[in-house]
Amino acid sequence: MERLVEIERFEAETTDEASLRPGLWAEYIGQEQIKKNLGVFIEASKKRNEALDHILFYGPPGLGKTTLALIIANEMAANIKVTAAPMIEKSGDLAAILTNLEEGDILFIDEIHRLSPAVEEILYSSMEDFRIDIIIGSGPAAQTVKIDLPRFTLIGATTRAGMLSNPLRDRFGMNFRMQFYTPQELAQIVSQAANKLDREIEKEAALEIAKRSRGTPRIALRLLRRVRDFSDVADEERISLERTIYALDQLGINKLGFDEMDLRLLRLLAQNRGKPMGLSTIAAALSEDEGTVEDVIEPYLLANGYLERTAKGRCATFKTYETLGVDAPKTEGSLF
Ligand code: ADP
Repeated sequence: MERLVEIERFEAETTDEASLRPGLWAEYIGQEQIKKNLGVFIEASKKRNEALDHILFYGPPGLGKTTLALIIANEMAANIKVTAAPMIEKSGDLAAILTNLEEGDILFIDEIHRLSPAVEEILYSSMEDFRIDIIIGSGPAAQTVKIDLPRFTLIGATTRAGMLSNPLRDRFGMNFRMQFYTPQELAQIVSQAANKLDREIEKEAALEIAKRSRGTPRIALRLLRRVRDFSDVADEERISLERTIYALDQLGINKLGFDEMDLRLLRLLAQNRGKPMGLSTIAAALSEDEGTVEDVIEPYLLANGYLERTAKGRCATFKTYETLGVDAPKTEGSLF
C-alpha cells in the first residue's frame, strides 16, 4: 500500500503540489520567527542594493524549505535556479551552473549535505570569493583558469545539518532550523489549499486532517487530496468532518498521524523494554535504510516525546508504551 504519510526525499513534484505552493509571505503559514528574521534581512539587503547573504535551511522533508526559497526569490525580484545535490555529480556540473548565474540570482540546492567533496570544494570558493578555479586538461599540460562569478545568493536545504562539513556550514551567513507545525497552523494550510482546489471544507475537518499529518504541510496537503476524493465520490458539496474521519480511517491513518512504519518502530523499541537500540539494528529490523529512519521517521516521534535518543541508542518513552497500550517496564535503574 502507498505510504500516505511518508515523504520521499527526491519526490518529483507534481503539478498539483506546485499549484498549492504559496508564492507570498501572506500565504506562508507558521515559522513566524524565521519569517520575521528573513523579512529584516531581505529589507536590509534591498536597501543596500546588495545580493542577500547565503542562507541554510535545515529540518525534515516537507516543512516548507523549497517554498521559502521561492518566496525569497519573489521578494528579492531575483531569478532562482532550483537543483538538488544528487544532480550535481561532477565539479564541471556545478561550474556550468555557477557560470550561468547573473548578478543577484539565487541558486537553491536541496539535500546539500549530499554533495561530493570535490564539488563542495568549488562551492566554498564561489560562496566566499565569488570566483572558481577550473582545471583544464590533465597531466603536465593542465592549466588552472580563474573565473569570476557574479554576486549570487546560495540557499541550501538539508534534512541533516549534522552531515554538513564545517567549512561549508561556516560559509552560510544565516542558518534557520525549520519547526514542525502546530495542528492549528496545519488546519489553516489545509483550508487555504482547499480554497485553491475550489473546495469548501469544514473547520473541524481541516483540523482533523491537521492532527493526523505529523506536523508536516506536505503530508497535510496529500491527505487533503485523498479526503477530497472520498468527498467527491460521495457527491458532497463541502468536505465534512464525518467524511474526513471516515476517509482517514479507511486510509489507515491513525489518530496521531502514525502509519504502519511509525508503529513498527515504536513496537520495536517497546519490545526492547527500555534498553537502547542502535540505529543500524532498527534500520535492519524495519528493512529501511538508516538515512530514512533518521531523517523521515524519527524526527517527528522525537520532537513529540515518543522516542528518546541517548548515546547508546534509541529508547521507548512512557508515551510509547501508552500509545501502544502496553505496560512500561518497571525494572530498577530504568528510566521509569
Ligand atoms: P521541503 O522543501 O521542506 O521539503 P516544500 O517547500 O516542498 O518542503 O513544501 C511541501 C509542500 O507543503 C508544498 O507544496 C507547499 O505548498 C506546502 N507548504 C510548506 N510549508 C508551507 C507553509 N508554511 N504554508 C503553506 N504551505 C506550505
